[in-house]
Amino acid sequence: MLNVQQLDVNYGAVNALRGVNLSVAAGEVVTIIGANGAGKSTLMKAISGLVPAARGQIEFEGGTLASVPPHRRVGLGIAQSPEGRQVFADQTVRDNLVLGAYLRDAPKDEIDADIEAQFDTFPRLRERQHQLAGTLSGGEQQMLAIARALMARPKLLLLDEPSLGLAPLIVKEIFAVIRALKAKGVTILLVEQMANQALKVADRAYVLKTGEVSASRPARDLLDDPAVREAYLGKH
Ligand code: ATP
Repeated sequence: MLNVQQLDVNYGAVNALRGVNLSVAAGEVVTIIGANGAGKSTLMKAISGLVPAARGQIEFEGGTLASVPPHRRVGLGIAQSPEGRQVFADQTVRDNLVLGAYLRDAPKDEIDADIEAQFDTFPRLRERQHQLAGTLSGGEQQMLAIARALMARPKLLLLDEPSLGLAPLIVKEIFAVIRALKAKGVTILLVEQMANQALKVADRAYVLKTGEVSASRPARDLLDDPAVREAYLGKH
């Protein structure tokens, strides 16, 4: 579904990504782990079109994304739940979800049915549907950001640090949702600091090290690898 080849991204003189190769097949959950500043968010932004590629190719369903602007990538089926959540703070929960579907041009009853489906996945959002998004807790905002991305009915869901800044119990809930999405066949590319949790839910994983892919293996292998455990999981 997604194929990244020899990707370089630069911020001025900083080479944030160098020669990155990555692929995601339909139905897979793939995670990218790596230390702070390794380039994980940059890779997500390059896929969603928020930063330009200096070199290399990103293909989605066989077509190049090179000249496709971000909003058209959403139209093609790539939706991102960005790091830091970025919900529309002065809109209600429900209106945030409606906005998530704005590129679909779907009839209102179809949108309403999809909102109900999101409420089934995230019951707390149903209770709070008329509340302003800016007044939600951090965990609730994260759930809303994921639900809003899903309202685009994406073929590929990009999740950038969904656990960032959340209490352990909420992190558990977020990962339970990711598991449920996986069971439904949603294709997911997940960036996470919580490598342990991410590797447990993912099929495959890439390790990014200062802008380069240093390993790409089944997630289970990485979870069992002593060197990876020491470097990224804080365990020996
Ligand atoms: P973290 O886990 O801390 O979010 P990350 O792996 O997502 O890190 P990136 O945010 O992709 O890392 O950053 C990769 C490198 O690019 C870092 O050295 C960072 O300082 C640099 N960088 C990121 N965004 C910019 C920018 N807008 N301008 C200049 N340098 C940037």
